[in-house]
Amino acid sequence: MIRIEGLTKRFGATTVLDGIDLQIGRGERVVVIGPSGTGKSTLLRCVNFLDRPDAGRISIGAISVDAARAGRADILALRRATAFVFQNYGLFANRSALGNIMEALVTVQKRPRAEAEARAREILSETGLADKADSYPASLSGGQQQRVGIGRAMAIGADLMLFDEPTSALDPEWVGEVLDLMRSVAQTRQTMLIVTHEMRFAREIADRVVFMDGGRIVEQGPPARIFDAPRDARLRRFLARVS
Ligand code: ADP
Ligand code: MG
Repeated sequence: MIRIEGLTKRFGATTVLDGIDLQIGRGERVVVIGPSGTGKSTLLRCVNFLDRPDAGRISIGAISVDAARAGRADILALRRATAFVFQNYGLFANRSALGNIMEALVTVQKRPRAEAEARAREILSETGLADKADSYPASLSGGQQQRVGIGRAMAIGADLMLFDEPTSALDPEWVGEVLDLMRSVAQTRQTMLIVTHEMRFAREIADRVVFMDGGRIVEQGPPARIFDAPRDARLRRFLARVS
């Protein structure tokens, strides 16, 4: 359903993604792990052209985009098929929780305001934030802000949700509620591509774990295989450091 082929990204002379091939089935949850600086964020950002890949092809459902020749319409189509949850929430500071969730529904999806608001209020209930509809990000805890960030991604109804270390900017006390919300998203059979350092969560939620190092996929498999019987020495070293 989602196919990434030969995805390549350079920053100057540095090759950050070195020909990534990855397929993700509908409803599948894939967790990406690996040392920092290894290209995990860049991979997610290239999937929806927040960073423009230098080469490769990305196909999501009926959309198939060759990075080397992608035009505006291709990029817009990919952005519509994906939803991104950022490490630092990425909320509009001058919009309420409700306004943040409505934003993409109104501007990208061109839904009527009343319909967008109704959908956003539904999402606020699902994320346990119904009483925070009118609160601005600065008055919300980190955990609440990230729940708004996830709610915004949920509202879009994207084919693929991309999570880039959604809990790593949070104080420890807020991590649990964000992981709980991600669990409930997973229960809807939403297709998810997640970068995280939460290894216990990865083991629990992932259908497949992908280990990246040096801009390449070094090893991948079901969580039990990756965590309990890692093969590559780089993966074994990484796991020894993080667990
Ligand atoms: P990870 O998410 O695995 O920690 P990143 O994808 O953020 O890694 O970064 C991979 C490499 O690309 C790092 O060496 C980083 O410094 C570099 N990099 C990321 N974004 C940029 C950028 N906009 N300009 C230059 N180098 C970048
Ligand atoms: Mg990163």
